[in-house]
Amino acid sequence: MNILVVNCGSSSIKYQLFCMEKHISLLSGIAEKIGSSESFIIHHKGDKLHKVKIALNDYFSGIEKIAQLLMHPAWGVIKDKSQIHAIGHRVVHGGEEFRSSVLIDKYVMKRIKFYSKLAPLHNPPAYNGIKATKKLFSDTKQVAVFDTAFHQTMPEEAFLYGLPYKLYKKYCIRRYGFHGTSHRYVAQAAAKELKKPLEKLKLITCHLGNGCSIAAIKHGRSVDTSMGFTPLEGLVMGTRCGDIDPALVGYIMEKEKLNIEQVNALMNRKSGLLGISGISNDMRDLLTCAKAGNKRARLAIDIFIYKVKKYIGSYIAAMNGADAIILTAGIGENVSVIKARLLRELSNVIGEKIKMLTIHTEEERLIALDTFKLIQNKK
Ligand code: AMP
Repeated sequence: MNILVVNCGSSSIKYQLFCMEKHISLLSGIAEKIGSSESFIIHHKGDKLHKVKIALNDYFSGIEKIAQLLMHPAWGVIKDKSQIHAIGHRVVHGGEEFRSSVLIDKYVMKRIKFYSKLAPLHNPPAYNGIKATKKLFSDTKQVAVFDTAFHQTMPEEAFLYGLPYKLYKKYCIRRYGFHGTSHRYVAQAAAKELKKPLEKLKLITCHLGNGCSIAAIKHGRSVDTSMGFTPLEGLVMGTRCGDIDPALVGYIMEKEKLNIEQVNALMNRKSGLLGISGISNDMRDLLTCAKAGNKRARLAIDIFIYKVKKYIGSYIAAMNGADAIILTAGIGENVSVIKARLLRELSNVIGEKIKMLTIHTEEERLIALDTFKLIQNKK
């Protein structure tokens, strides 16, 4: 059975085709700059790369071109659309309603659109991508896998803010958490590596990429996570500020004469590693500059690590212990000095008991697996 995984961003479509029997990825790629005249697709088949420069006006033309590539005599692996047996979509926000992945029907579509109010940058592209995919693959079953779903097991004490309770009821203001598919995937992989059932483990999973979040996973259930109502809360990220004193928002608006949109852009796109260093949001650049003696690059890295350390400590407290800390995503998987520093600086807390593992995250694979399971159940 072949399953296509689709992840629509604000101007991009990532895709990957899996053969479930062989547990392998057959093809993958990304269509970028959709809606502009500079759009292109980078398509991978094995270790070969194929770049297609093509005008993609919208998600439908993007999906259409991707489908053509999947069936291309040289670059594809399938002959016709019927060889794609199901499609799994990454959807960022499922509110409190979707606690696990679901088959997409009219109702689910309506609700994905509805939750755009909580994820205005993320849900609309997913919705449009699904619509385009449904049009092109009208006979193929489609599944939605939500970033927020895994964290729906958080208890009230972890997901509610210290705001008037009526705001929660009125506007759904609470902490949702994101990167759920990544946290779930690496937690499962860690249990395998530790040779213990997930249900018996207390894990702290650190997704450290351009976006960063940490989750406390007790017996397989997320009990806390660092991102909140939006993916802005928590750690210092590539361009996002993470936790700040909420009173600062009004203060910065007043001092810098910014409106809400501008202050949001400042916190989401001009802060974090980029804002502190004034150099880059990319950890590789900062490591190079810090090595060359740049103080602000070093400061950005120090603040980044300090925040990770504080969250790890708080989650050990939240779960009254931990069996392992897992590092994943671009920074988590590649920057060995971060692991070394965390091990050194947390040595008294970690002791002999808490292991630190690096695990490669594969959100797309988990989306394919969820899709596969749901399709099997419906047969
Ligand atoms: P992601 O969002 O998971 O793609 O992660 C992006 C972040 O990971 C960026 O800050 C990159 O600089 C960082 N990253 C990716 N690969 C490496 C590497 N080999 N060494 C250092 N940082 C890396």
